[in-house]
Amino acid sequence: MTRLIFLGPPGAGKGTQAQSLAQFLGIPHISTGEIFRQAIKEQTPLGTIAQGYLDKGELVPDELTQNLVKERLSQSDAQSGWILDGFPRNVSQAAFLDQLLVTINQNNERVVNLDAPDEIVVTRLLGRGRKDDSEDVIRRRLEVYRAETAPLIDYYRDRQKLLTVNGNQSPEEVSTELQKVIA
Ligand code: ADP
Repeated sequence: MTRLIFLGPPGAGKGTQAQSLAQFLGIPHISTGEIFRQAIKEQTPLGTIAQGYLDKGELVPDELTQNLVKERLSQSDAQSGWILDGFPRNVSQAAFLDQLLVTINQNNERVVNLDAPDEIVVTRLLGRGRKDDSEDVIRRRLEVYRAETAPLIDYYRDRQKLLTVNGNQSPEEVSTELQKVIA
């Protein structure tokens, strides 16, 4: 049963890799960023709240995000494994997830840290052209990443759950390395 959390800075290629690995393994790819973007597009109540945060590169409030993940992991397709992409993004979310996974008997998760240097991720994000990929929003997302999300690398290393993959290579090379480390 594969349960993986993808960590890494915006632009490291988490989405691409998580998506194709999930498809290969036949398990859901759960991207909180995608869920928020879809909700914004559909103008749901969740989308209305999330929009202001995404537009600024800030994190959506923990409680809202945590409830969403709790709900999603309880769905039937998530009972045979999953890849979480973009969650947790800070230590409180990680502590919440630890507890949730124990409660629902899914606590065999491993964490893939997809690592890439700053200058690479900025260049990639500027070339991508998503709505929250303007230069100042990118800068803010990187600041939030460094301050809030990067500490999760030590958090999961301390808990012996951390695997590291070099994101600074071609998508095919990343996939190959990824398949090796999770085997
Ligand atoms: P990227 O990794 O390229 O920044 P994501 O799609 O993972 O893109 O996230 C986009 C935005 O969605 C974030 O900047 C944030 O506003 C929101 N978001 C995604 N996941 C979370 C989360 N776990 N907690 C709070 N906000 C989140």
